[in-house]
Amino acid sequence: MTAKELLAAAAAAGCTAGLCPFEAIAEGLLPCRAASRLPQTPQTVLCVLFPYRFAGEKPQNLSRYAAVPDYHTVAGAVLEEIARSLRESDPTGVYEAFMDNSPLPEVRVAVAAGLGVRGDNGLFYSHEYGSFVFIGAIVTDRAVGATAHPPVSCPHCGACASVCPTAALSAAGVDRARCLSAITQKKGELTTEQAAALCHAGSAWGCDICQEICPLNRQATVAPHPCFTAYRPTLTIDDLEDLHDKAYGWRGRAVVERNLRLLENFQECGKNSCQNT
Ligand code: SF4
Ligand code: SF4
Repeated sequence: MTAKELLAAAAAAGCTAGLCPFEAIAEGLLPCRAASRLPQTPQTVLCVLFPYRFAGEKPQNLSRYAAVPDYHTVAGAVLEEIARSLRESDPTGVYEAFMDNSPLPEVRVAVAAGLGVRGDNGLFYSHEYGSFVFIGAIVTDRAVGATAHPPVSCPHCGACASVCPTAALSAAGVDRARCLSAITQKKGELTTEQAAALCHAGSAWGCDICQEICPLNRQATVAPHPCFTAYRPTLTIDDLEDLHDKAYGWRGRAVVERNLRLLENFQECGKNSCQNT
C-alpha cells in the first residue's frame, strides 16, 4: 500500500484526506474503549474529512452539524467502506476506521495530516472547507509517510472570543464547562445563568457563534459530502419522536426537549422566564 493509494481510496468516496505518521499523535491518545481496535503496530493515520455545511439559510436553533443526518451513521458508513476497499486491495494489512468514538485526538490528527489548522476556539479549520467538517480516521499498520504540511496557522484575530456569549474563550483556551455547546448537552437542571445563555443565544442544541464569525470560514468551499442528503435548519419537538438519524440522538429526548421548552417559554414570556420547566 502506498500513500497515493490510501489517498485515492478516500478520493473515490468523495473525500478530501491527508496522512500523518501515527507517532506524531501517539502521545495525545485519549482514554477510550475503542482503543482496543487499534492495530498492534499502528504506523499511519489516514485522516478523512466530511464537510457538512449547506448553502443558504443558517440553522435557526441548532448547530449546523446537527441539522444534517447523524454523521456517526452516514459518514461512519462511508469511512467503513473506504476501510473495506483498502482491506480488499491489501488483505494482510490492518485498516481500522474511527468516527467520533475514537482514542485519536482528531484535531491534532487533521493538523498533522496537513489538512488545516487549530483555531483559538479549539476547533479544526480545514484549508478547503473551514470548520464545518467532521473528521474521520483510518489507522493502518502500513508505514507510508505523511502528506505535505503548509505552514499556516490561525491568525489569532480574537473575533471568536469577542462574540462568545458565555466568555468561554480566553488566552488559556476553551473553558468547556462554560461553552454553550456543552451546556445544551448537560443532563438535569441548568443553572439560571446557563439557562439564560441558552435562551439568549436561541439554541436548543450546540453553538456555532464562534465559527460563524471566523474569517477562516469566509472563503471556505460550501460543498457538503454527498452522504448528507438532507438539511433541517429548525429543530422542533416533532423531531424528537424519532432520534435514530439525529446527531443529538445519543443524548436522548429529555435534554433536547428541556432546551426547546426553555426557548419556547422565553419567546412567549420574555427575559425573566429562563427557568427550567
Ligand atoms: S475567529 Fe480569529 S482567533 Fe478565532 S479561530 Fe478564527 S481566526 Fe482564529
Ligand atoms: S461554541 Fe459558542 S459558547 Fe462555545 S466557545 Fe464557541 S461561541 Fe463560545
